Amino acid sequence: MPRGGARLLQGGPIAAEIRGAVAEDVAGYVARNGRAPVLAVVICGRDAPSMVYLHQILRSCEKVGIDGRLVEVDGAEPEARLVDAIRALNADPAVNGIIVQMPLPPTVRLRPIVDAIDPAKDIDGIHPLNAGLLRLGYDGFLPATAHAAVEILRRSGVEIEGKRATVVGRSAVVGMPAAFLLLRENATVTVCHSRTRDLARHVKDAEILVVAAGRPGLIRGEMLRRGVVVVDVGINVVDGVLVGDVDFESARRVASAITPVPGGVGPLTNALLLAHLVRAALAQESGTAPGASAATNAASVPARAPVPSADTSAATVGGASVATATRGAR
Ligand code: NAP
Repeated sequence: MPRGGARLLQGGPIAAEIRGAVAEDVAGYVARNGRAPVLAVVICGRDAPSMVYLHQILRSCEKVGIDGRLVEVDGAEPEARLVDAIRALNADPAVNGIIVQMPLPPTVRLRPIVDAIDPAKDIDGIHPLNAGLLRLGYDGFLPATAHAAVEILRRSGVEIEGKRATVVGRSAVVGMPAAFLLLRENATVTVCHSRTRDLARHVKDAEILVVAAGRPGLIRGEMLRRGVVVVDVGINVVDGVLVGDVDFESARRVASAITPVPGGVGPLTNALLLAHLVRAALAQESGTAPGASAATNAASVPARAPVPSADTSAATVGGASVATATRGAR
């Protein structure tokens, strides 16, 4: 462990590298198709934090040449209107990717919305098909935050294989996909949640700890094993300040490496979403099935090699390897 505390795993530089590669891919797409790839951002209601997040995504789109379009749905019967809006975007060949603002308003059920998205345009991996592909070890679209939580480890040279990894949180969009990705990287994974009886023991056991609970200060330094690598996915506002789920000051004295909040997983999530959009656009351009490999410029950006001896189908987009070991995909 470096003197003076843990190494900071910064998402910014990795995100910049990915965005650079995405911009090159976008330029190639524009040259071939005479138009920019399109990301549709569907919003329903005015949840303030998610509006901030979505506007950040739209700004990032602009910087790399992606055409980001806001699609607002309001009025009576929001669920039916949302489904209709998503179906219209599915049917529009100019639209390459769709994300829907979360959380949804309380009157809108999640399942019909998730089911409505065309899996080939589901660049945040929320459709059951993409969730199933991940579970089986095939190459679908990954939820960007979970992808970022593991990609920051890979890109920072943290060895995952064989390590004991604990994931705190089991949501469909963060905790569970992060756990499956760690398993894919050959970690031995424990998933904790609000009913876990002895959270402290599982946390202490971890050599890699991913925390995605949405509970500020849930994990403190004294709970950690010395030398642990901590990925803090949490985003919370406490007294007007953005903090994670991990008490940063106490944790950095014990961990060997830790992601800061802000500046860790967040920037990478954003960049990976753009990389997923480009991947969708290229797959649609070449007429390949959802989740099929797409060779891109960005493949030249070094990403760690896939697991030797595994039967891999590697798609590398925006420098973000989405190599999938199909071993075990039974
Ligand atoms: P979520 O759907 O609310 O899930 C939270 C998970 O944490 C649940 O599985 C819950 O357990 C578990 N949990 C809650 N309290 C716990 C406790 N005291 N001990 C152990 N487990 C506990 O949240 P999410 O969407 O996964 O998001 C998690 C965090 O990541 C939030 O802070 C969110 O803002 C942040 N986030 C960050 C990014 C990014 O780009 N960095 C993107 C998306 C989300 P149960 O299943 O038992 O309820």
